[in-house]
Amino acid sequence: MQLIYEKSMPGRTGVRIPLCDVPQAQPFPEALRRKGAAGLPEVSELDLVRHYTNLSRRNFSVDTNFYPLGSCTMKYNAKIAEDAGGLFAQCHPVLALLPGGEKLVQGPLSLVHGLEQQLAEITGMDEVTTQPLAGAHGEMTGIMVIAAYHRARGDNKRKYVIVPDSSHGTNPASAAMAGYQIVTIPTAPYGDMDLDLYRAAMNDEVAAVMMTCPNTLGLFNPHIAEICAIAHEAGALTYYDGANLNAILGKVRPGDVGFDVIHVNLHKTFGTPHGGGGPGSGPVGVKKGLIPYLPTPRVAKKEDGSFGVEAHPEGIGRVSDFFGNFGVMARAYAYITLLGREGLIEVSEQAVLNANYMMARLKEAYDLPFDKTCMHECVFSASRQLKDGVHAIDIAKYLIDRGYHPPTVYFPLNVKEAIMIEPTETESKETMDAFIEVMLEAAKLAQEKPELLHEAPVTMPVGRLDETRAARAQQVCCEQ
Ligand SMILES: *Cc1c(COP(=O)(O)O)cnc(C)c1O
Repeated sequence: MQLIYEKSMPGRTGVRIPLCDVPQAQPFPEALRRKGAAGLPEVSELDLVRHYTNLSRRNFSVDTNFYPLGSCTMKYNAKIAEDAGGLFAQCHPVLALLPGGEKLVQGPLSLVHGLEQQLAEITGMDEVTTQPLAGAHGEMTGIMVIAAYHRARGDNKRKYVIVPDSSHGTNPASAAMAGYQIVTIPTAPYGDMDLDLYRAAMNDEVAAVMMTCPNTLGLFNPHIAEICAIAHEAGALTYYDGANLNAILGKVRPGDVGFDVIHVNLHKTFGTPHGGGGPGSGPVGVKKGLIPYLPTPRVAKKEDGSFGVEAHPEGIGRVSDFFGNFGVMARAYAYITLLGREGLIEVSEQAVLNANYMMARLKEAYDLPFDKTCMHECVFSASRQLKDGVHAIDIAKYLIDRGYHPPTVYFPLNVKEAIMIEPTETESKETMDAFIEVMLEAAKLAQEKPELLHEAPVTMPVGRLDETRAARAQQVCCEQ
């Protein structure tokens, strides 16, 4: 495919800009002005349409193929939620802040409030803020709320946050961004955080413990209530990374187990497609004692039943503009409202069933480092294939040739040659069976013709990339 720049012909154009019919503004100061032409491609409308249409056909998405990318929850997102997101496109968020403007935005404000209540109910928390714009942003917000809580009590010696090594990588990063030092607890042979080491690490200098549950091995930690009790006894708070709630919707409410703070990713569990960097939304829920420290402002329901915007003076300030990524929130509200209580329970039951089906059928061919019931995803290791010189990445590339997005590979970091599969609840048994056949075929090839796996992908516009160089020396790449 030719680059759009290579199709450029001097003087060719696809648009006609109307003559200026308003007084011209002051020109930019000389120093800010471009010295030469912008160097944009000069192409016809047809060239441009073909360019983008051809690019879009090279895209891989849930709307085209199975996408079992572990930890990312690439489920099908119903188009009706997409419609809900679009409903508010004409509504400018500044309206809510103008004098008398609240009256004009009662719908959006009630949506923010309603979503906060839905999420509080689902997670067992007392209040929720929708401001954070991603999961990691929610984590940082949550840890800042925890820090504000300790500070307000004059409890200033807490400088550590405990994080198990099976947590998501953003956890230690967010806690460090919020100013804490990280204490990492290794995973015990049973697949959960080592309880004895945790107990030994907990003391009155610990601000919080952050748990990803299910952890990145796809395993539910049966000791979370005890972990919370140990933290509380030492005056520390407890943080639940609920980025992915697919396995526990309607089954476990982290707030009931003893967690003080949670974030959830609307762009994983609740109806927004993701990948490619956004947009996201990572609302944070807290227990009563932490409500004062939530970001400002908040949407409040007034006595007459209408909604208003209120300052929240003791809070940690703003963490985003307005109330967060509103389009994502509207999709989540639609998704939760449409499915209702029973529907959400079905989501998690089906997600867990699908992952366990995948695990049961593939464990003959691939090593399973922790052979027990998994939650919404399962983690294999290609260590058996490695004996024939085949790495997880070779299997991943082969799957691309066969029309599948590869599972997550080399994560979690505590599993060698990890292959992490998350089928999600929206896939049929037939789709999973077809994928399983290809995975079994790859295992067979690893023994019989490993060179075929090393060569993959052979059907794509570009072959095997030098991934290190691709990341370090980025440049526009084009073949054919
Ligand atoms: C995806 C994920 C995150 C990070 O969320 P982002 O929106 O990508 O910042 C954090 N924790 C877990 C467990 C996740 O799966």
